[in-house]
Amino acid sequence: MAERKKRSLTTMVLVGMALGIATGLVINLTGWNEPGNFISDYIVNGLFLIIGKMFVNALKMLVVPLVFFSLICGVCGIGDVRLLGRIGTKSFALYMLTTAIAIATAIVIAAGLGIGQGMNLVSDGEFTGKEAPPLSQVLIDIIPTNPIAAMADGDMLPIIFFSILVGISILMVGKKAASFIEGAEIANEVMMKMVTIIMAVAPYAVFALIARAVANLGLELLQSLAGYVLVLVGALMFHLFVMLMIVLKVFSGLNPIIFIRKIRAAQIFAFSTASSNATIPVTMRTVTERFGVNNSVASFTVPFGATINMDGTAIMQGVATVFIANIYGVELGLTGYLTVILMSVLASIGTAGVPGVGLIMLSMVFTQVGLPVEGIGLILGVDRLMDMIRTAVNVSGDATVSCVVAKSEGKLDRAVYDDPEAGMLDPDEALAIDPEVEQEIAEMVDQTKKKKA
Ligand code: ASP
Repeated sequence: MAERKKRSLTTMVLVGMALGIATGLVINLTGWNEPGNFISDYIVNGLFLIIGKMFVNALKMLVVPLVFFSLICGVCGIGDVRLLGRIGTKSFALYMLTTAIAIATAIVIAAGLGIGQGMNLVSDGEFTGKEAPPLSQVLIDIIPTNPIAAMADGDMLPIIFFSILVGISILMVGKKAASFIEGAEIANEVMMKMVTIIMAVAPYAVFALIARAVANLGLELLQSLAGYVLVLVGALMFHLFVMLMIVLKVFSGLNPIIFIRKIRAAQIFAFSTASSNATIPVTMRTVTERFGVNNSVASFTVPFGATINMDGTAIMQGVATVFIANIYGVELGLTGYLTVILMSVLASIGTAGVPGVGLIMLSMVFTQVGLPVEGIGLILGVDRLMDMIRTAVNVSGDATVSCVVAKSEGKLDRAVYDDPEAGMLDPDEALAIDPEVEQEIAEMVDQTKKKKA
């Protein structure tokens, strides 16, 4: 019985997604998505927008406290502080490596197929590039002048830095700080509980998010850009199912089929929100409870990966560069392509995993290699959909590296990884409060009040 319920959440989310696509398509094809239409104004950009945004807000709400408390627990529970350095170095190296592989494969595939050659598209010229922060500034900003401000802004790298330092300082203070650790552990558990609550309402929110995205999609554009879209999606799938799984198998020996099955929840959330950052809570839950990665590794690798690791985004940049260079008839040559690879990898370090950031990185790459930035206007219309797909690849990369690093440090529970049922979410359980516990807590509060009086 319990098993049937457990299955039903994933199924319900998938059903929500499918219904969302169907509803969105109907609205799109009937022209009900035109501004001024009742459905467009009140349903798509009213109800769906509100539900979707509220859900994404709820996820984002969890990110900062979850990262803060889980990192403190992670550092304190690591057993050997030197391990921190190793986890940091390994995950950084793997993140950079997978991003470089991603963009290199994308360029080879796109250039090999010659996409965009002979096409005559006119850019609507709407895209004006924004700057991604220079690397020197990214390095400086790792240390926050004000941790509360960093938390308020959701700046992941300074939050990670501060939380690790708090953890290390607790270890140095020693026994006296025991209750602080206990408090952080309880807070972490509470935050994780919140993740399951929000996940339990996902089917409805995913429906609203997807229906709105599909309703507003430029289907005609999708047709005229079919070449770009197909090559990009193909390269993304190749990276997800082949390259990342080779990395997983070679570096950790773990079974890729199990990985692909269990990563689905995180992928669906990434797809629906188009934000690796907002997906952090779900990725963290998936990696720890479904894959058995110890919190001491996941609490670092997941938020770190959401910020610096963007395989899917790098692939988009590779394909888009070749596509637009071909349309404008610009010969980039080997040096040009190597610059693209280097720039994309560096740009991914300093930019957060939020919707649409890939285009900002792309404008930086274009400026470097001398491609017209307004060329990005050509692919703008299909970018939201591409963003959704590449974000799912981005979080899959974060989870892959988390598993590899954890396995290499003996911090992965193989029994959990291999168990298909481990960490499955039961929506009823996620939303249930035990009446006895409720009673106990109420009595506790009552007694404390009486003591004070
Ligand atoms: N939306 C992506 C992410 O959050 C970044 C991008 O490609 O725009 O990972």
